Amino acid sequence: MQQKWSMVDEYLEKQLIAEDEVLAQVLANNRRAGLPGIDVSPVQGQLLALFVRMVQAKRILEIGTLGGYSTVWMARELPVGGELLTLEANPLHAAIARENLHFAGVADRVTVAEGPALHTLENLGDHPPFDLVFIDADKPNNPNYLKWALHYAHPGTLIIGDNVVRNGEVTNPVTTDASVQGVRTFIEMMGAEPRLTATAMQTVGVKGWDGFTLAWVNA
Ligand code: SAM
Repeated sequence: MQQKWSMVDEYLEKQLIAEDEVLAQVLANNRRAGLPGIDVSPVQGQLLALFVRMVQAKRILEIGTLGGYSTVWMARELPVGGELLTLEANPLHAAIARENLHFAGVADRVTVAEGPALHTLENLGDHPPFDLVFIDADKPNNPNYLKWALHYAHPGTLIIGDNVVRNGEVTNPVTTDASVQGVRTFIEMMGAEPRLTATAMQTVGVKGWDGFTLAWVNA
């Protein structure tokens, strides 16, 4: 099935996503630098861009930068004066991301905070709330990231969590995989949180069988 899923993704990308030399070069830079190919796909990047547009986000928090591919998709949608803070623990990933963000012309509105995301979040102080939070780092920490996302949210903030289906393993309550346990707790916290209206979509495509959560902070 993987071959068919990829063919469909490629078809959708060809029909719907304008060719973009800058984004293609960002991906090429990531591969050349040896970063793992775990960036969002182009159709997912466009989805993130649409979410930024739909919520008219002016302040974005991204947890998990890699080489900044998803960062570029979202940062381009920011209005003048908008800001994106992206958190990355790996110094090589952060360095490549900074280069890519300069190359893509969005470095003026993006800050790459290098270090474990939890440490950065614990030291953000009285940062103004974010309009959109994209959680895409180490999955065992997803429950902690959700707590911080809620801490820095306001009514109307959109919280997106990537890679929550994990080839269907999300339904396995006795898994020993800490990433699966992390996303299970994350999803269960969302369901039990009265401040959130949440859903999740399972997806197939070039990235295999996975999915994402979408949660709206209620008024
Ligand atoms: N959002 C990126 C994109 O689509 O282009 C992909 C992010 S990749 C799936 C996850 C990233 O999270 C990796 O670069 C990894 O180094 C980073 N990461 C893992 N654990 C982290 C932590 N504790 N704090 C901050 N970043 C972390």
